Order: sequence, then structure tokens, then C-alpha cells
Amino acid sequence: MRKALLLAGVCLLPFAAFSGRGGDAKHRAAAGNGMRPRLVVGLVIDQMRWDYLYRYYDRYGTDGFRRLLRDGFECRQTLVNYLPSYTAPGHACIYTGSVPAIHGIASNDWVDNRTGRWWYCTEDTTVLPAGGSYEGGRMSPRNLLATTVTDELKLATGAAAHVYGVALKDRGGIIPAGHMADGAFWFDDSTGHFVTSTYYMSSLPGWLQQFNSRGLADSLLAVPWELLYPAKSYHTALPDDNPYEGLLPGEKRPVFPHRAARKPGESYKTLRFLPAGNTFTLEMARACVAGEKLGQQDGTDFLCISLSAPDYIGHMYSPDALETEDMYLRLDREIAGFLDYLDKKTGKGNYLLFLTADHGGAHNANFLRDRNIPAGNISSITMLKELNAWLKAQTGIGSAVITMENAQVYFDEKKIAQSGGNRAAIRQAALDWLRNRDEVAFAIDLEHPERTPVPEPVRTMVINGYHPQRSGSIQFILRPGWYNGYTPTGTTHGAWNPYDTHIPLLWYGWNIPAGATSRTIYMTDIAPTLSALLHIQMPNGCIGKAIRELAPVRR
Ligand code: ZN
Ligand code: ZN
Repeated sequence: MRKALLLAGVCLLPFAAFSGRGGDAKHRAAAGNGMRPRLVVGLVIDQMRWDYLYRYYDRYGTDGFRRLLRDGFECRQTLVNYLPSYTAPGHACIYTGSVPAIHGIASNDWVDNRTGRWWYCTEDTTVLPAGGSYEGGRMSPRNLLATTVTDELKLATGAAAHVYGVALKDRGGIIPAGHMADGAFWFDDSTGHFVTSTYYMSSLPGWLQQFNSRGLADSLLAVPWELLYPAKSYHTALPDDNPYEGLLPGEKRPVFPHRAARKPGESYKTLRFLPAGNTFTLEMARACVAGEKLGQQDGTDFLCISLSAPDYIGHMYSPDALETEDMYLRLDREIAGFLDYLDKKTGKGNYLLFLTADHGGAHNANFLRDRNIPAGNISSITMLKELNAWLKAQTGIGSAVITMENAQVYFDEKKIAQSGGNRAAIRQAALDWLRNRDEVAFAIDLEHPERTPVPEPVRTMVINGYHPQRSGSIQFILRPGWYNGYTPTGTTHGAWNPYDTHIPLLWYGWNIPAGATSRTIYMTDIAPTLSALLHIQMPNGCIGKAIRELAPVRR
């Protein structure tokens, strides 16, 4: 009997997908026979290193991170498998199961080698803002060249599944929700509102207009950020005032309490740098669940949440600050509250949640040097000037390189051709210059990666990250501990090293057994695992494998 029902469910699905009608009825059949949960929640914590789960473990409560670790399944060795380890490719990889070479999100920003035009990952000049300011609203997933697991859920259910993305960063909400999303919402610094673009809808839904009218950004910014506990109880050994931290606007010292009160007419941007940014995003996620009745209908819905504040805070203060620790202790409470909310809204066991990160983050380089660990910080802008001067001296062509963003050399191919330059000689000169620098471990010609002996996993990560139209054509890899940053304070990410690429991966809820594995799992395995759990096709650029410990056995 059970088998017959299952077969009926499987057979009915394609009709729902292709007819464009009656999707809801077929969708109900699939969810109703136990093939899918009522709601899937993807929770990406921007810049969360895997070790934060354990660095602060004894400080967490029992119902936040520790609930997920205790009752869910942990993949302890989950690694990013491409370069650069930035936000947009991270979110794209999680949801497509693919890598920049295929999904096309080569970085947050890139230059199109055919035209020399700069692109922001989610910019789209064919759409207009809906509900927000002009500059922050012309966004869509159009630059993403592959389907997401959220797209595949839409395709499998005749678009009956409701899919939404929510994040402070536009790219954190847009990319995960995919091309067929019902909506993606992000934070508009100039209004303090969650907004969207005409790619999704012409005006904000009523529940979001109501949410925005609450003025929550103002009330959150009015509360100073204080430490939750006495400073000496924190794990970091650094004092509150130390030379490795940046400053919030208007602050003279990087110390608690951080007062971010905003004057009328000023930007709301500071909210991104406060734990209150997480409060705000999860409050918005609740409003979306309630407003769209996600997980409360008969089908399967998907909510993609990305918490951006941990990344801004990490960039500002680095992993060893009281601020970072305090933010994670607060985030633990926020997650506990959100799980409790989902329990009440959809019922325990009726939702599937996964928690991961788009990348990690390095220790501050000066912090490491002061502790005798080899490290350093270079500026790609200074390097660009020096390389262009060198190339001019060698070849007579000035400004032959457009940028060294993404630790890649983007050549001005048009200029080199017009100047009658010898392309191969210029490339070789750039490689020689890079290889002679102390902080550079490898300089790899991406058109001929086989010419440079580079150990795994770096070699595969470089090839996985190379999109010929959107990547620079020489990749340079810095020595461990070195980063390509902007300032001596705070930190960044983007490299192959474990501090940037070892991410948490926790599965919890519907059909998830309690357990853990230390087997190496790649970020590209997340989407095919979701596809297996949901009984849907893998995204169309997927190169990952389903995590076998999580594949439900059907008899
Ligand atoms: Zn990020
Ligand atoms: Zn970042």
C-alpha cells in the first residue's frame, strides 16, 4: 500500500511541473506521503569559522548551537573547494552544488574579460528597485549561470513550493533563493527597510510594508551594544581596547559599550556591524514565515536566510575580539529563539534546517606576527601600481593590468593588443614579478595551470574557481597567514587556507539522525544532499555528492 502511494506521488510530479496547473494538488501528494518536509530552512552565517562551534561551546546555552549539535548531524570537516572564498561564490556554491567555473559567480565583483566592464555579482540594470532606494535596488540572480536547489524544488513542484531569501546583504538573499524565487529581500541602508526589485515583484507585499513601518532598525540602533557577561569571563585573552580592531563611525576607541545612535538623515549602515543586525534579520525571517505562511500549507516551502552581521563584525574586529565572542554568544540565543519559533509554527520534526557558512576568516595578521607566527597583510592596490610600473619598464606598455582583485591578475587585453604588445611575454613578466615576491607562494597561469606544480587541494580549488570570461588569468596564492586586505585592523578572507575554508555544516530536524562525521565533505555536497533528502533533481551545474550518512533508507 505504502509502495503504491509512493509510486503515485512520483508519477504525478512531472505532470504538475509541466502543466503549470494543479501544481498545488500534486505538491500536496509529495509532501503528504512523507517524501518532503513542510519547510526547509537554510541558515548561512556569513564568515562563521567551524571552530567557533567549539571555541565558545561551554558558553553557549543548551537550546541554540548545542541543540543542533546534540540532536542533529554535524559534518566536522566541511571545506570550501574553490577560490576565492568570498560571500557571493560561497552562497552560490551552497545552493548550486557547483563552483565558479560553472555557476559563473566568480567573486563578489569581477571584470568581464571580453568588454573590460566591472560587474557586481547581483547587479541587473534591467530591473528597478521595489520599496527602496535606486542604488540598492537594481539586483537579481541573472548573473548566476546554474540552477539552485531552490530552483529545482520549484521545478519539481510545478512552482507550488514557496521560496524566499532574506539577508542584510543583497547577494546573501538573492543567490540562494535562485531564479524562480517568489521573493528575495535585503537591507536598504538609506531607508532602514527590507527591500526587493522588480525582478520579483512590482511592490512590497503587505506584510513587509507593515514590517518596515515598525521602524525596527531605529529602535535597534538606539540600544548601545554592551557585553552580555563580565569581560574577564570571555575566552579571548585580548583586552577590549587593542590595536587589532577597527572603529565604528563616530567612535574614538573600539570599546564597549558601542553606541550607534543614528542622527536623522544618516545611513542605517551601522546596523550591519552590530549583533542587532542578526536580531533584525531573524525578525524579518519570522515576518516572512508568518506573512507567506511558509511551512503552514500543504506543500514544501524553502526559506533561505543569511546572517550578514557576523561578516561585518569579523572584518571590523577579527576572530580574537571580545566583540566577536559576544556576537556569537548573542547569536546562540537568537538561534534558540528562532528554532523555538519554527517548532511552534510548523511543528518539531516538520522542518529540515541546515546551518553553514559561506567562508571563514583569518586571524588578524599583526595579532599573529606579535605572537611570532609568520603572517602579513598586503594591499592589492599597491601591488597593482607596482606590477604596472614593472610591466611598463619591461614592455613599454603602461596600465597593462586592470586590477588584482580576487588575488588574480586581470589584463587589459584590448590595450595590450592595440599596443602591439607580445601577450605571452607580458604574462611571463607578470608571473616572474609575482614569483619573486616574498609573500607569494605560487603564481599560476590559469590558461596553463599544468605548468606550475601546486599541491592539492590548492590546485583543484584554483581550477574550480576559474571562469575564463569572469576571472583574472593569473592567480597568485599567498603564504599561509598572509592576506590581501585593506587595513591593519580587523581581518578578511578569500584564500584557500583552512581558516578561510573550513566551515560549519549542521543538519537538523526532518529525517535527520543525531550524529557526526569527520569525513571530508565539500561545500558542493550540500545541494545534492538536499536534493536527495527532498527527492528532487540535483541543480543543473552540480558537481557534488550527496552525504551518504544522511540519505534516508526507503523500503
Ligand atoms: Zn561572506
Ligand atoms: Zn567578508
